Amino acid sequence: PRTGLFAMPIDATLPYDDQNVFARILRGEIPSKTVYEDDFALAFHDIAPQAPVHVLVIPKGPYVSWDDFSARAPEALIAGFVRAVGKVARDLGLVEPGYRLLANVGNHGGQEVPHLHVHLFGGAPLGPMLA
Ligand code: IMP
Repeated sequence: PRTGLFAMPIDATLPYDDQNVFARILRGEIPSKTVYEDDFALAFHDIAPQAPVHVLVIPKGPYVSWDDFSARAPEALIAGFVRAVGKVARDLGLVEPGYRLLANVGNHGGQEVPHLHVHLFGGAPLGPMLA
């Protein structure tokens, strides 16, 4: 569990809130340390890293969670987003020795920010759980 402004787990069945922090990052209203960007996805460093590499990859569209995205997003965005996650890991040199992907969904998942994000962890052997 983390502390901070976004520490409340969210209800992933809520409608998309375009004032959430990742929506604001996508619009350039608040800064982020960009790792990668294309038409489908933005990747940036997590503000509170839990591993030597801790990057968040988000789709460029209004999707609350993995559940919302997998059910509603157009095929091209799903494909582009999945490819972007893989490319970020390759570009960061993580494929060998390996890395971890994680997406928290809703209350039991501990999701805090209501815009789909995939956590990418690496840079050291990882413990059993992160995020
Ligand atoms: P969740 O618990 O899976 O929703 O993860 C939310 C993540 O977003 C946490 O790891 C936070 O540290 C991270 N986070 C929150 N606000 C910001 C920000 O403004 N920039 C980068 N990362 C953030």
